Amino acid sequence: MPAIFKIRPRMRTLLSPAVIKIELVGILAWLGALFIDSVSALNVIHLLITLCLLSVWYVHRVIRSFLMWRVMGGLYIFVLSVGFAYVIRSHMELRIFALPLAVIIVLSSAILFITVGDYLLSSVQVWLLMWTHIDIDIYRGQELYLLLFCVSSVSIGFTLSFTYLRNLRSVLLVESEIRTLAETDFLTSLLNRRAFMELFQKLLAEGRYGYFIMLDIDGFKLKNDQYGHDVGDKILCAMANCLKTTPGSYCVGRIGGEEFGVLVLGGDDLVVQEYALRLLGAIRASVAPPHHYTCSAGIARFSATSDMSAVLKCADNNMYRAKHNGKDRVFQDGEQVGALMLPLFAQ
Ligand code: GH3
Ligand code: MG
Ligand code: MG
Repeated sequence: MPAIFKIRPRMRTLLSPAVIKIELVGILAWLGALFIDSVSALNVIHLLITLCLLSVWYVHRVIRSFLMWRVMGGLYIFVLSVGFAYVIRSHMELRIFALPLAVIIVLSSAILFITVGDYLLSSVQVWLLMWTHIDIDIYRGQELYLLLFCVSSVSIGFTLSFTYLRNLRSVLLVESEIRTLAETDFLTSLLNRRAFMELFQKLLAEGRYGYFIMLDIDGFKLKNDQYGHDVGDKILCAMANCLKTTPGSYCVGRIGGEEFGVLVLGGDDLVVQEYALRLLGAIRASVAPPHHYTCSAGIARFSATSDMSAVLKCADNNMYRAKHNGKDRVFQDGEQVGALMLPLFAQ
């Protein structure tokens, strides 16, 4: 995913509180205008516009879709402009306020949008709506000043929006890069121990259930001693590749030097056992002799009520049983998994 798409939700999270407050100020100004206009003069259109404004404001607060969030920002400015344009139309004496109102809306909406394009679109729409209500008579002979106000307000808003968004974007891109570095194992590009455990803890907190598999390369020290550290590193990368490409896992990580963790969601023992045997088969075949290698695995179940360290310990115990019973095998609940199926996966 391009970095800019990764930071968009974060941009939205950072902008949202200010957007919601500014929109609320707009709604209060609208209600203020209605109040001054005298409550007795209220008609169904006033009520409809108020209802629309409140609904758009509410949906803008809670909507999850990013695209709809953008649409709601534009819609809010549109409804607000339509509302004020309607009030001005109903009271000719208010036409002198059309110009300052358009300038205020165009300038104050500069931080409401997440793209400069959205901002420009909204500003043009505000000016188009307000322009017909400006009292041209009082500016007769000085129309160029009107144009100057219009162009200046959009230019200042554009500059504000552009600079603000560019700075926010570059800060967030750096933040996203640092976050990725902090969560990724440099050699294998898998999640590192911290990121993997955080994800595991999050799954438990969300009430998810499944299996944790602990894997440890067999006789890895000997491989390093015999063929050198660079070959050892290649083996670690080959193992990481098997973990990434073998279908069936929810997430995988490097949780120690030559130890890896896998999370599999679901509650079917046979599914996780079949996955683990398939994974060991892929690992066995991933590097040609003489650098070929194997690994041992231990499986532990987890559910919402599980204590993470107890799950890790259980998987570790099973993994060590696999080691003590000849390595290159999978253990769960103290028993070897798929002993009869193993030759099938071993080819
Ligand atoms: P067992 O079958 O019992 O697991 O034996 P083992 O040799 O795999 O286990 P041991 O814990 O004795 O050795 C692990 C080795 O992993 C020791 C260490 O040098 C090596 N190792 C840890 N991290 C790296 C790494 O990033 N690159 C390389 N090349 N080796 C590493
Ligand atoms: Mg080890
Ligand atoms: Mg080992």
